[in-house]
Amino acid sequence: MLKNTLAAAISHTLLIPVLAFAHGSASTSGNVGEAREIQFPDTANHMTLVVDLHTHSVFSDGHVWPRIRVGEAIRDGLDAMAVTEHLEYQPHIEDIPHTDRNRSYQETMMSVPEGEDLLIIAGSEITRRPPHGHMNAVFIEDANELFSVPGNAADWDTASFGAAARNWPAENAVDAANEQGAFVFWNHSWSDFDNAKTVITDFHRQATLDGKLHGIEIANGSTYSPESFQIALDHGLTPVGVSDVHNLIDWDHEPHNGGHRPVNLVFTEERTVEAIRESLIEGRTVVWFRNLLLGQLEHMEPLLNASLQLIGTRYLGEDSGVLEIELTNVSDATFELENLSDYTLVQSHDIIEVPPHSSETYLLRTDGRPNRGDLQFRVLNALIAPDANPEMQFTFDVTSNF
Ligand SMILES: [Zn+2]
Ligand SMILES: [Zn+2]
Repeated sequence: MLKNTLAAAISHTLLIPVLAFAHGSASTSGNVGEAREIQFPDTANHMTLVVDLHTHSVFSDGHVWPRIRVGEAIRDGLDAMAVTEHLEYQPHIEDIPHTDRNRSYQETMMSVPEGEDLLIIAGSEITRRPPHGHMNAVFIEDANELFSVPGNAADWDTASFGAAARNWPAENAVDAANEQGAFVFWNHSWSDFDNAKTVITDFHRQATLDGKLHGIEIANGSTYSPESFQIALDHGLTPVGVSDVHNLIDWDHEPHNGGHRPVNLVFTEERTVEAIRESLIEGRTVVWFRNLLLGQLEHMEPLLNASLQLIGTRYLGEDSGVLEIELTNVSDATFELENLSDYTLVQSHDIIEVPPHSSETYLLRTDGRPNRGDLQFRVLNALIAPDANPEMQFTFDVTSNF
């Protein structure tokens, strides 16, 4: 969704005097521009919200204060984000011995400048060794209920705290998250396997069957996992794509060079945290990773139809059988389309590229000079399964010309 940046800029300016306490709100000046914002159109029936469900700050093993995460999210045009600290891995515990594990969420909430409409989702990372691995619980109410160690956080060092916290069964943490209505997903599952190929474990299978595990990361940082994507499809888990950023988005994803963090495009009824939660539980999302769109056909199709449209067709001359078509792309994706129709492309072999946020014309040789016909393309930059691309069909009619 596009933001109302003017309103945001005005209220940010007005509120500066109020923000003299604590760390204040995130700076949104400098290096801000629409080119950096992740932009996909709403679909015919839903809003398209841009969401990152997995990031870190100094409250676990990240290297920045939460307000930096907020500033990055606003620059990236996110609609919603979660800062999901490791509950058990606390490398800064001796410098930041916080006893309330909701502090990171509170600091993140307080960092959103007045007038900005970034939604903050409360979440935590449940951190165990394989077979449980790491899981994120988002849309939680109280992070303190999701881990257990005796005594006071201020009395621990990192190693002994981690060992004590990991002793509490992962099942208990997942149960506690579900009691709060959380959306729980399996993080970077491939890192639990020596060959980096995810296989669903008995624990994750049972948690899925019990309705306690709802999603699985298929993209995290710079990694995509086809095995995890297949597990999502086979077991009805929601595919998730996240930054899992610990340093800076600018260093990891270079938005100034056209890069972007992995995100979920979530298709919702309205722009609220609860609507995002419901859509994720229902699996209504597509992952945006590098130039790939990854998701189930039923959710991919409306996004493709909203993003790419045939806006004009005409023959080059009165007797010409060469058809000029104009395609418009209102998304951030560079569409790579493989021609599947009998018409042949004049300017290339069988693949055309439609750059983001642009309209382009292409020439096709027709057989004869039909007034109406169908164009069929395979969308190479989208996957509806690890080895399957969606197809798009456009019907042209030169009797109603542009
Ligand atoms: Zn992790
Ligand atoms: Zn993480």
